[in-house]
Amino acid sequence: MCGIVGYVGPRKATPILVDGLRRLEYRGYDSAGVALYGDEHLWVRRAVGRIDQLAEAVVGAPSSQMGIAHTRWATHGGITEENAHPHTDAAGRIAVVHNGIIENNSSLRAQLEAEGVVFLSETDTEILPHLIRKHYRGNPLEAVERALRQVRGTYGIAVLFADHPGTLIAARHGSPLVLGIGDQESFIASDPQALVAHTRRVVYLDDREIALVSAGSVQVGRLGGSLEDPNIKLIDDDWGLAELDGFPHFMLKEIHEQGESILRALRGRVQVEEGNAKLGGLNMEPRDLVRVERVVSLGCGTSFHAGLAASLAIEHLARVPADSEIASEFRHRNPIIPKDALYMAISQSGETADTLGAIQEVRLKGGVVMGVVNAVGSTIARTCGAGVYVHSGPEIAVASTKAFTSQLTAMLVFTLMLARTRNLSLDGGRRVAAELQAIPDKVVRYLKNPGPIDEMVRAVTAARYVLFLGRGFSYPVALEGALKLKEVAYIPCEAYPAGEMKHGPIAMLEENTPVIFITSKDDQRDKAISNMREVLARGAKLIVIHPEGDEEVKALAHISIEVPAVADYLSPLLNVIPLQLLAYRAGLVLGRDIDKPRHLAKSVTVE
Ligand code: GLU
Repeated sequence: MCGIVGYVGPRKATPILVDGLRRLEYRGYDSAGVALYGDEHLWVRRAVGRIDQLAEAVVGAPSSQMGIAHTRWATHGGITEENAHPHTDAAGRIAVVHNGIIENNSSLRAQLEAEGVVFLSETDTEILPHLIRKHYRGNPLEAVERALRQVRGTYGIAVLFADHPGTLIAARHGSPLVLGIGDQESFIASDPQALVAHTRRVVYLDDREIALVSAGSVQVGRLGGSLEDPNIKLIDDDWGLAELDGFPHFMLKEIHEQGESILRALRGRVQVEEGNAKLGGLNMEPRDLVRVERVVSLGCGTSFHAGLAASLAIEHLARVPADSEIASEFRHRNPIIPKDALYMAISQSGETADTLGAIQEVRLKGGVVMGVVNAVGSTIARTCGAGVYVHSGPEIAVASTKAFTSQLTAMLVFTLMLARTRNLSLDGGRRVAAELQAIPDKVVRYLKNPGPIDEMVRAVTAARYVLFLGRGFSYPVALEGALKLKEVAYIPCEAYPAGEMKHGPIAMLEENTPVIFITSKDDQRDKAISNMREVLARGAKLIVIHPEGDEEVKALAHISIEVPAVADYLSPLLNVIPLQLLAYRAGLVLGRDIDKPRHLAKSVTVE
C-alpha cells in the first residue's frame, strides 16, 4: 500500500521521483504528489488518480536536484488533491510525505488548532509538518525527532526543509523504508523496487530509526540517539527491475516465469546425491530439526494456501504434525504455542501486517519463528532473523502467482530436510530430491501447451457461480484457484474439499454450473471419481485438472486440462498453473484491471 520516493544528488530530481512512483504503482494508490527544492523554495504539486496525472502536473517544474514524492492510499480523509501528500507547514518551508496512520492525530490536531494552526486537509499526516515546524530551531533532525516523540501510530516519512538544501530526513516506525546510496546521490523509498534502477547499495531502516540523507551518504540512528554510519547491504541479483518484456500484463509474465522462479527456489539447496537439502538461512542442524514436534505455517491469502499445501507434504513425508493458520485469526486468539513447535511465517512482501502481528505473538510466548519471504530485507525477514528466501524475484501483479509456487517449493525443500532427520531413507530422499529438481522443466513443458483454457474461460464467464473441488493435496489448490478467480475476474466462486460437497454446496449446482475439479495421482483418486459422478448427475459442467495419462478421469470430464504427472505432494505446483491462466484470461475477457484489481493492494501493511 502507498509509496514514498526521495532523491538528493546531482541529477534532475523530477524524472527520478516520477519514475520511482511508477515503479511503486503496483502497490495500489489513489493520488500522488511531489515536493521539490528550487531557488530556496519548495514547489509542491499533487494530483488525484494515476501517476500520469501527476506527470502532467509537474510539467514546467523548476529544475531541482532534491525532492520527495508519494503515492497515497487514503486512510484519513477522502481522495482529493488537498489530502494528497506532500503536506507542508503554513509557511510552505517544510514538506512531509507519510505512509501509515497517526493514531493520536485528533488530539494533536486539536492542540495545534488551539495554538492557531490552520489545517488545509483532513489527513492525519498534516499534523507532522506543523508539529515539526513547532519544534524547529534550525536543526531539522532535532525538529523531526521531537515531533515524532509526540506521535503514536505507524509511519514511514520523508521530510524536506527549504532551509536545508542537500539534506533529507527519513524515519520509520511500522511502515517500511529503505535508503539507497549511489555515486554522489542518495534515495529514499518505501520499496527497493523504486531504487534498483539506480543502485543496489541499500540501508534498511528499522522501527524507531531516523536518518539524515545527503548526496552519496546517509547516517542512521535510533530516535533520540546519536547518528552513525550504517550497515550497507547489497540487493540480490534476482531482485531485478520489473519490466513487462513484451507481455501485455505482469500477471501473465509472472505465470510464465514459474519454470525459472521455481528453479531459483531450488538452486544450490537440493542435494540429489545425498538425498537431502540445505537451507543455510534457517540455521538449523539435524539435531535441531529432530526436536521439532510440530510445524505451523502462518500466512494470509495465497501465502496461507501455500502453507496449507506445505503442511500436507510435511505430514506425508516427514510424519510431523503440521498446520497452516490464517495470521489475522491466529494473532488475536491468544494462541497456544507448544514448546517444540516451529512456526513458518510466509509472506511475499515480508511486510504483511497480520503476519507480522502473528510473529510477534509467537515470540512473545517464547516460540521459534522463521520467515519464508520473497522481498529480501523486508520487515518480516529482518524481524525473524532466520528463515528462507523464496527468490521468485519482484512480483508486480497484485494477484500472486509465481510467489505461491516459490513459497511452496521453498517449504518442500524444508520438508525434505525435516523428513531426512526422521523416517525418510537415503533412497527415499534421493527420489524426493530428483522429483523436486524435475519440476521446473515440467512447468515449462505445461506452459507451452496449456490445453483448452479458453473453453474453461467461456464456461466460468457465462456462469453465476463456480465451485472448485479437490481432495488432499488438491484442496489447497482449489482454494487458491477460487481466490485467483475472485481477485482477478470478480466471479463469485468458492472452494470446498470434495468430500464436503454433499454437506451443503451441492445445493448450488444447476444445469451447467461449472465445477472445477483438481486431481492428482494419489490414493484419494477413486473417491474423487465418485464425487465427479455426483456432480455430473446434477447436470453440472465438469472441468477437471488431472495428470497426463489419466484416461478414466479425462473421459468423464466435459473439459479436461492435462498437466505433467508428478508425485501427489508436488501436484499443487503444476495443478495451480491452469487455474492462474483461467483467472487471467477470464479477467481479460471481462475487461478487468488485471494487474491492479479493484480494492486490492499488493502488500497489505495495515491490519
Ligand atoms: N494516513 C495517511 C493519509 O491518509 C497516509 C496514507 C498512506 O499511507 O498513503 O493520508
